[in-house]
Formats: sequence, C-alpha cells, structure tokens
Amino acid sequence: MPYKRKNRGRSKGRGKKGRSETVHCSNCGRLIPADKAIKKVVWVPTVTGAMAKELEKAGTVIPRKRVIRYYCVSCAIHFGIVKIRARESRKELPEELFYRKYRVK
Ligand SMILES: [Zn+2]
Repeated sequence: MPYKRKNRGRSKGRGKKGRSETVHCSNCGRLIPADKAIKKVVWVPTVTGAMAKELEKAGTVIPRKRVIRYYCVSCAIHFGIVKIRARESRKELPEELFYRKYRVK
C-alpha cells in the first residue's frame, strides 16, 4: 500500500512501540494520539492584561512559565505551526527535525 508519508504521520510503527496515549488538542479539544500531535512549547507570562503593561512600563521582568501545547494536525496547519509540503518533501524529515536528529549546525 502506498503511503503518503514515510512515517504515516506518526512516530509509532512496526517494531517501535505499541499503542500510544491520547492527548487533547489545546485549541479544539479533539482527542489525538500523542505521537501524532504537534507539540509546541510556549513561554506564557504569569501576569497578563493591564497589570502586565503597567509592570513592563515600570521596568520589571515578568516571569514566564513553560506550557506544553498539543495541536491536532488541522489546528497546527491553521495556525501555521506546520505547513503543507510537496509530495516528495513529505517523505523527508522536516528541516528543524533533521537538525535536531543529526545535531548538524
Ligand atoms: Zn485541534
């Protein structure tokens, strides 16, 4: 059977691991397998709104906390986190993942 993507859009597969856990999409709430979900780490300021503006004016550094967001494929495409790629390039690793995997600088 021809596959659209080399890894079929997942990081699980034959000889890798069994069933993967599910996570909720941070935007729409859809249940998605964790290995298929697009994971994004964002640094969210602890103070938001008018209070934050005033504090920034005064020159304070607002602490930010690390939040992990999971997106389903449709939401990730909607927000531009991942982009639609040409048929041939879909089978390759995305550029940023390639650099992460092989540690090329
Ligand atoms: Zn979603």
